[in-house]
Amino acid sequence: RPSRQPDAVRPDIKVSFEFFPPKTDAMEERFWDSLSRLAPLGPRFVSVTYGAGGSTRERTLRMVSRITNETGVPAAAHLTCVGATRDEVDAVVRGYAEAGVNRIVALRGDPPEGVGQPFTPHPDGYRNAADLVAGIRKLGDFDISVAAYPEKHPQSPDWDAEIDNLKRKLDAGADRAITQMFFENADYWRFVERARKAGVEAPIVPGVQPIHSFKQIAGFAGRCGASIPQWLADRFEGLEDDPETHALVAAAVAAEQVTELLDSGVTEFHFYTLNRSNLVLALARLLGIRP
Ligand code: FAD
Repeated sequence: RPSRQPDAVRPDIKVSFEFFPPKTDAMEERFWDSLSRLAPLGPRFVSVTYGAGGSTRERTLRMVSRITNETGVPAAAHLTCVGATRDEVDAVVRGYAEAGVNRIVALRGDPPEGVGQPFTPHPDGYRNAADLVAGIRKLGDFDISVAAYPEKHPQSPDWDAEIDNLKRKLDAGADRAITQMFFENADYWRFVERARKAGVEAPIVPGVQPIHSFKQIAGFAGRCGASIPQWLADRFEGLEDDPETHALVAAAVAAEQVTELLDSGVTEFHFYTLNRSNLVLALARLLGIRP
């Protein structure tokens, strides 16, 4: 294990933070509060998700334009192509550009029946994320991120198909891949190795999900094909009614994960914040990032 200076400031470490568009006034207050606490860390970008099937189209646009125009923090807008025509999707891309947002996280999205159900492209739509990336490239000069799955996408028949699909997205013009949450770092390293062997050169940024609520995250993980190792479930077992210990265990688990990735040479991290700042602020410190 390479030695690490725990308190070193690391200007070489890059972070990005993912938020979701708030639904209520109270949630919106938390969104801006968390953003104002995380902004001084100088993230490469803050991204805002696009609700299932485009359900948050207006809210996503409103949040990314406000971030861009009112805070000066670079914003990235997520975009899916499920259930929409090319023209509709292209109009959203143009809307982002008009709002000054030139970073896009380009995704296929999931059918309304749920994750894991067969995906049928809209007859006039983009066929998948790779097709969407190619379409966005034609519309302008965007920084594009795409999704990667260290445990394989639930619909991938095998690893070759999984890595080929990632390669197609990057060859179509994406700048980097951001991974789905994972809790075994070995899964991430194996995935990176497979991708490099297949000739993928772009950064594969680990998506780190701090466990604010084990029950909630286990539910999310189940729906997106990320597994919860038994040792992780054991660590949180019986803590449902003990929020203080739960929070300490969550911090320890996430700290272990990011410091191990850091020690193995990872220099870019994407945090799923769920619009909260506390844990992410602490993790950024461990990575050597100061306001
Ligand atoms: P794609 O890369 O197009 O395909 C996914 C899988 O389909 C592939 O792994 C492969 O198995 C199969 N596949 C596709 N094309 C082919 C082909 N030609 N041949 C064989 N197999 C093929 N969802 C949202 O609704 N909104 C969001 O904001 C959002 N943000 C996300 C952010 C990140 C970082 C991640 C990791 C996921 C996000 N998702 C979001 C979820 C995403 O929409 C789903 O995981 C979806 O099921 C797949 O999207 P994709 O872009 O990976 O699809």
